[in-house]
Amino acid sequence: MARLCPLFSGSSGNSYYIGSRSAGLLLDAGKSARQLDRMLKTCGIDPLAIQGILLTHEHTDHVNGMRVFAQKYRLPVFASRGTLEALSGALGEVEAYPLEEDLSLAGMAVHPFRTSHDCAESLGFRIRMEDQRIFALATDLGYLSQEVKENLLGADMVVLESNHDVEMLRCGQYPYYLKRRILSDLGHLSNAACAAFLPELVKSGGRRFLLAHLSRENNTPALALSAALSALEQAGYTRDIDFSLEAAKVENSDGKTVIF
Ligand SMILES: [Zn+2]
Ligand SMILES: [Zn+2]
Repeated sequence: MARLCPLFSGSSGNSYYIGSRSAGLLLDAGKSARQLDRMLKTCGIDPLAIQGILLTHEHTDHVNGMRVFAQKYRLPVFASRGTLEALSGALGEVEAYPLEEDLSLAGMAVHPFRTSHDCAESLGFRIRMEDQRIFALATDLGYLSQEVKENLLGADMVVLESNHDVEMLRCGQYPYYLKRRILSDLGHLSNAACAAFLPELVKSGGRRFLLAHLSRENNTPALALSAALSALEQAGYTRDIDFSLEAAKVENSDGKTVIF
């Protein structure tokens, strides 16, 4: 059985454990190594089960604890060539490899795909689990390109960004340049853009959705969930019958794991 454990989500840090009880991968390491260790413990995951770290991109909220954690557990780090170049000084002694084609690790087959974000070369991941189920993750993306959509379709479990409520962002405290950046094609995915795509995912066989990277200033879990739910219900789908839906917490302090 496959397990997803969202450890941290949002602009203060992102990290997910994906795999089985005995072997898995860390997707991003955006908190200190000590915080990652503590949250893995809360979630009942032995850090020694982790066989590698995959990075979506070089922003601090995705790499903060990467070097220390990778060195502590002697883990290889995989990321796009652009991300590795952007990180070069921060890699220290870490064994880092460019992720340019499919990778088999910890009993899983990882397929990286490109996302559109204001960084060197960001990635999302489509991962085939040992039991052939498909997991996909796409966060930090300004819009859903054809390539992203194709990689999310047919996945059993999808982690998708639902970053902001457009009205909250427009009326909020952020300076104009930052609002423009977030709303651009190189920014973050809005609740509305995320929600609009969910019915297509259910139609293609998707059953479990985790809304992720919610902005603390320009969103609330209730707003993200209600946008997603209303789009799915309008398409004729019923929660907990046709699909399950949750919003990732900033910190998974009750150690919740999704089994799929
Ligand atoms: Zn981020
Ligand atoms: Zn980012």
